Amino acid sequence: MSTDDEPTKTICPYCGVGCGIAVQQGDEPADVRFAPWGDAPVNEGRVCIKGGAATEVVAHEDRLTEPQIREDGELRAASWDEALSRVVAELERIRDEHGPDGMGFYSSSKVTNEENYLFQKLARRFGTNNVDNCTRMCHASTVYALGESLGAGAMTNSMADLRDAADVFWIQGANPGEQHPIANSQYFRQAVLDGATVVQVDPHANKTTESFDVAASDRHLHLQLEPGTDIPLLNVVLKTVLENDWVDEEFVAERTEGVADLRETLAGFDKEAAAEECGVPLADIERAAEVYATAENAAIFTGMGMSQHACGVDNVQNEINLALVTGNVGRPGTGVNPLRGQNNVQGASDVGAMPDVLPGYQPVDDDGAREGVEDVWGFEVPSEPGLTNVEITHSIGDTVHGLYVMGENPVMSEPNANRVADLLDETEFVVVQDIFPTETVEYADVVLPATSWAERGGTVTNTDRRVQRMRGVEKVHEETRHDFDILTEVGRRLFGADAGFDFDGPADIFAELREVCPIYHGMTYDALGEAGIHWPCYEPGDEGDQYLYADSFDTPSGLGQIEGVRHQPPRETPDEAYPLILTTARLEEHYNTGTMSRRSETLSRQHPENFVDVHPADAERYGVEDGDSVTLESRRGEITLTAHVTDAIKEGVVWTTPHFAAASGNVLTNDALDERAKIPEYKAAAVDVTVAAASDEAADD
Ligand code: SF4
Repeated sequence: MSTDDEPTKTICPYCGVGCGIAVQQGDEPADVRFAPWGDAPVNEGRVCIKGGAATEVVAHEDRLTEPQIREDGELRAASWDEALSRVVAELERIRDEHGPDGMGFYSSSKVTNEENYLFQKLARRFGTNNVDNCTRMCHASTVYALGESLGAGAMTNSMADLRDAADVFWIQGANPGEQHPIANSQYFRQAVLDGATVVQVDPHANKTTESFDVAASDRHLHLQLEPGTDIPLLNVVLKTVLENDWVDEEFVAERTEGVADLRETLAGFDKEAAAEECGVPLADIERAAEVYATAENAAIFTGMGMSQHACGVDNVQNEINLALVTGNVGRPGTGVNPLRGQNNVQGASDVGAMPDVLPGYQPVDDDGAREGVEDVWGFEVPSEPGLTNVEITHSIGDTVHGLYVMGENPVMSEPNANRVADLLDETEFVVVQDIFPTETVEYADVVLPATSWAERGGTVTNTDRRVQRMRGVEKVHEETRHDFDILTEVGRRLFGADAGFDFDGPADIFAELREVCPIYHGMTYDALGEAGIHWPCYEPGDEGDQYLYADSFDTPSGLGQIEGVRHQPPRETPDEAYPLILTTARLEEHYNTGTMSRRSETLSRQHPENFVDVHPADAERYGVEDGDSVTLESRRGEITLTAHVTDAIKEGVVWTTPHFAAASGNVLTNDALDERAKIPEYKAAAVDVTVAAASDEAADD
């Protein structure tokens, strides 16, 4: 609890940068205000618009304030005992009738490590590995490629290290100016002001473009490629590196394997044809290759423009190839660095809320790893990997019959949203644990009201592997409960008092977590203090690594894995019926499904509703004028929104967001999956555009 004199230091709930902010609570619990935390370790007191507005949702009138149960098609208020009894009875029924794999568990990148840890433990004690978090939607392919080829699915280098040591920032498919504002302004842009060069690879001219143009237009190259052509573009870069002897031969010989495969893949590769396919002049790509390959220290940043493709693993593998052949890994100012989305998307995966790994990325099908965890937990863990979250959704009515949804909104966050809604409608039992009545709550049989980010304690892990403590103020609504309290109670009711769910609070849970999670093993709440610690931290006293792989990679051979990859077009390409390619991304003022940001007065002011960017040539071709109400249609559905005519987007491409329930871009997106990482292809769907309002008026005439 805090007082007016003593703000509570915690972590911003929005993005993976992990900025420290403080919360000041007045005499009334609902009087919750933002307060600066001047010497916060990541941001030193600076925040973006989301961080400054984060407290606006804590006492919002839409908060879920009491448990609810669906009866005769309507949700009604219930006591906690009644609601939890129903949850336990339905989970037991589903296990009896369909087996434990009849349940799917959606965990959350918005809740703490301790809560994710408890949630995946609950699923595994129930008898299933069908547990996943929204990493699957944003960076599953990155985690897969980095894990296989380098060893860990995380940033190789810390933001501070990159600011201080990188000479070139290669930013591909990421828009930190909009989506990680403090990382961009305080770290990347600062490095550019100090002399670094930026290569930005993105179909869209965006806030990142603006920020670097203003900082140093002569040291900013923007390669505005066609969506879905990242592999050919990087192959042009790689072939240019090979042709010019910019390979770090010593590093390649001593630290990697597979370069022969890359050379063979690129042997007959036609750079000119590839550049044309990318829609970028060959000379510009060659110039960018030279900038990166001849720098002393060059770092790659990768985002969802790379990962959210059916070839997402190969997209990221090609970035890894570039870093490895030029020796830009394992040193300060280098590496391959995914910019993670939600404030605990890194931690949710670290602590095992994934279907194929236990805490610390220990494979669930590795007998030794599993037995080590079972020794601490006291029960057997299923040895086969479970379903990913999109696979869980797609299995409803087949093998999956019940869902436990904690802090996730699949009806809006998953692609092909109309199909998701239909499937949830068919589900025998859905329990949703959240802070607001999300679109998924409409399909819930039981609703459990949780406390918000500002009211809870625990830890979260930011995009550069820094584990930090959150501290909570007093609860605003008496009848809400912390997620960790709800989960311990469900565990006790399902499995008994001595079944491993008897915890006093976050510190108690963390003490067990570190026993089964080697990369967190050396951390304690005391050691984390206010600055936090970067993982891996194997033993107490370890300070955590600013960069990984100084001596070897965490692969079976200890070598970095190079593997040539070939272009794979998006699963949907434009045709006569759907002649445009849709790509989607987030806005600075909003976040994912907008559960919180749409309810913030400050954040919804600038963009109260959805819009679509259309290139002027396409606007002319389809009779669209700036400000028109237009209908976007794909094979999966349609939405109506406002047209922004702008040359920030390429001709033939339209761009929109997933934030608004009334017109979510995910109604249109494709649920085709990358075969290995199972991430959906959010970034390329074929669509058509028609003028909605004008057509109606014409019909009226
Ligand atoms: Fe919060 Fe991210 Fe903004 Fe920092 S950059 S204040 S963590 S939303």
